Amino acid sequence: MRIGADHGPYPRDIMNCNDCENPIAPARLEALPDTNYCVKCADNHTERVVGRMIYSHKTAGELVFASGKENIRRLNREYTRSR
Ligand SMILES: [Zn+2]
Repeated sequence: MRIGADHGPYPRDIMNCNDCENPIAPARLEALPDTNYCVKCADNHTERVVGRMIYSHKTAGELVFASGKENIRRLNREYTRSR
């Protein structure tokens, strides 16, 4: 069977969350086709990334990204110091 436009705006298989097994909302799949988790569980699996503008010199700023708790903490420290 071919799945196409006749089957609604989300022509893809129903995906279930890898964690809680609940179906992932079609709108979420539309926005994040690669996701394997529902909204509730995604937080447990996505690594938080923080970007900060660091001004280490008076003229130039540098956008620095960090991921992972320790790196984010370090970046925040750097950010606070550079202001
Ligand atoms: Zn889930």
